[in-house]
Amino acid sequence: MSLRAGIVVTGTEVLSGRVSDRNGPWLAERLAEEGVDLACITIVGDRPQDMRDALESMSARGLDLVLTSGGLGPTADDLTAEVVGRFQGRPMVLDEALSGRIAKIVAPLLKRWPNLDPAAIEQANRKQATIPEGATILEPVGTAPGLVVPPSNGSGPTVVVLPGPPRELQPMWGHALATEALAGTLRAATTYEQRTLRLFGIPESEIAETLRIAESAGVELDRLEVTTCLKRGEVEVVTRFEPPQADVYASFEAIVRERHADTLFSDDGSTVDEQVAGLLRTSGRTVATAESCTGGMLAARLTDLPGSSEYFLGSIVAYADEVKESLAGVPRATLEAHGAVSAEVAEALADAARERAGADVGVGITGVAGPGGGSEEKPVGLVWLSVRGGAEPITRSVNLPGGRSDIRDRAGTVAMHLLRRALSGA
Ligand code: ATP
Ligand code: MG
Repeated sequence: MSLRAGIVVTGTEVLSGRVSDRNGPWLAERLAEEGVDLACITIVGDRPQDMRDALESMSARGLDLVLTSGGLGPTADDLTAEVVGRFQGRPMVLDEALSGRIAKIVAPLLKRWPNLDPAAIEQANRKQATIPEGATILEPVGTAPGLVVPPSNGSGPTVVVLPGPPRELQPMWGHALATEALAGTLRAATTYEQRTLRLFGIPESEIAETLRIAESAGVELDRLEVTTCLKRGEVEVVTRFEPPQADVYASFEAIVRERHADTLFSDDGSTVDEQVAGLLRTSGRTVATAESCTGGMLAARLTDLPGSSEYFLGSIVAYADEVKESLAGVPRATLEAHGAVSAEVAEALADAARERAGADVGVGITGVAGPGGGSEEKPVGLVWLSVRGGAEPITRSVNLPGGRSDIRDRAGTVAMHLLRRALSGA
């Protein structure tokens, strides 16, 4: 039987939408990696009763593990440890040694605020060091410790209490996995395998059709948990299965490979951005971009991964026609004859990026991001892209759906896929 978990995200700022939840989705992926079945994510405000209700409903559903995020700090609205302690039937006790360790962490921060009241600081430290008896402490990444709190009477979920700021929560999850309290709970879980296939250039309905074909070919899809979703213009097929079903998965994957040979680009979880980075790095080639409608977004994507200085040289953001002419050297005659959104200008931009930055490969992008500026001949969503200096020059247009931000984002994705093709020669 697989272990089932719930996540309680706390914080009025998250509930109200002022801060969007980054902890629930992140933890959901980590739980999947551990083979844990996630039943629900609940967001509650900083109200003890709401938090308590969330814990109780998860316990009533028979969940084995609950993760909480937020509400661990020193302020009065930070109540999670206390609520969880009471829920687990464990009295709150002050851990003097922990209080001392928190004081050491806080000391250098206090130097910047010399006027603070030492008694108030001491009280804040003691509050954060007051924890449910018998809980395993996760050492602070910021100032607040996390906790693994088992139920006091042996039945009910183990609760892992994590801080709100994602930069604190993420490293602390690793610490939590290393504790016997959590590792012991996880050992009870059936390990699931999870595989991700990514395809580009097909509608989601095509995958639905592939699922039907697989089924009628005798693949027992009900032994797998297949989810498909459209993500930034790519179709992602995530399949989870118990190890004995590996053969069923293999026959399903074979059918996907056969039917979608030219659109399947990733079978190991890698993104197109990572693949482009890998192709550039292993071939020792460099790239530069000249962008109009994307305003440098492709350059931003290319520099997102650490180590991008090895292969990314630079970008010209040539938005106005005058700048296409002055900075990118696109001849006025080309602009006048074909218009800024054209194959010729995309190619001239790609050449300019290459030549002016001294890169091996240049990418040019020009399009109509909207909402205004479209015409019958060149509607909103029309984007011309060109990649020069790869195995073969590629220039093509796409008609992208959605609003301005979708079109700009999608143009970046298309550019990444063209770059991948140019670099791999496939
Ligand atoms: P602190 O010691 O910083 O108060 P905490 O554990 O008490 O930590 P919260 O007070 O709940 O955490 O949140 C602190 C900040 O962390 C929030 O204002 C928000 O910016 C960020 N944060 C909290 N929860 C989330 C979340 N689920 N997703 C994204 N950011 C979050
Ligand atoms: Mg707080």
